[in-house]
Amino acid sequence: MMKVGLYYNQSEKSQKVAEEFLNVCCHKEFERDDENPDVVITIGGDGTLLGAVHHYKSQLDHIRFAAIHTGHLGFYTDWRDFQAGELIESLKHDQGESVSYPLLDVTLEKADGTIENHIALNEATLRKVNGTLVCEVLINGELFENFRGDGVCVATPTGSTGVNKSLGGAIVHPRAEVMQMTEMASINNRVYRTLSSPMIFAPEEVLTLLPHSENGMVLSMDHLTYDANDIVKVHLHISTQRVSFVRYRHTHFWDRVENSFIGAREID
Ligand code: NAP
Repeated sequence: MMKVGLYYNQSEKSQKVAEEFLNVCCHKEFERDDENPDVVITIGGDGTLLGAVHHYKSQLDHIRFAAIHTGHLGFYTDWRDFQAGELIESLKHDQGESVSYPLLDVTLEKADGTIENHIALNEATLRKVNGTLVCEVLINGELFENFRGDGVCVATPTGSTGVNKSLGGAIVHPRAEVMQMTEMASINNRVYRTLSSPMIFAPEEVLTLLPHSENGMVLSMDHLTYDANDIVKVHLHISTQRVSFVRYRHTHFWDRVENSFIGAREID
């Protein structure tokens, strides 16, 4: 029997959809197992899905996600709240259909020598909240530029429609296994100079950030934010791990982009 995990936010709508799934589990159609699920149903918005991916990060090699949205933007979510019944029917006839997307590997080196490995589905950002961030940017170990500004953002293809888009980055189809760096308000004058264009890196390339600031630095990975003052190096590259979703219905990536950012067109 399929083991289904439920991960939902506290909105009234989300709780109602979760109850629908709980009823099905009671009728022995699925087994509810939040610890060791085969499929995780997220109910909420993209923020809820990001939370679930981080919650289950050690099990990404065998878990598939299905995301239902209950009133948010829902870029990643394929089902609306009123389509929960349809998703339940598809789960009953599951044949392992899936689609997977690239993740970002984020390795942090700290001043005390400790190393931490993280993943991000959307992006990682390094910012300074008081004054400007000063950091060297290395590509494959070679110094590329000295950055001074608010911060830098490194996004995955599916994260390219998140904060990356607001920073003027390109939207990237997730079959292109690349990462993209965008700048946040870089200073460009006679003294400080950066490329100032979004950059897209090939799958095997590694970006390293060497921050020089001593306070006010913040590192974000998706919805999670950490104090980054003890970080001396951040290495970023496209991960060999991926995140998988059930694929009972497939929304073409560009349709997803159109639905989220352009909306219904009025034709004369
Ligand atoms: P939030 O500030 O509560 O929500 C940010 C918005 O971004 C929500 O509307 C969310 O959709 C949407 N979103 C998340 N991932 C997306 C994606 N891949 N493509 C398009 N839209 C996306 O933050 P949150 O819910 O914790 O989510 C964190 C993410 O928000 C970050 O990873 C970052 O990409 C994005 N963000 C964007 C900006 C910006 O554009 N200036 C600023 C901060 C964060 P839902 O409404 O469905 O949850």
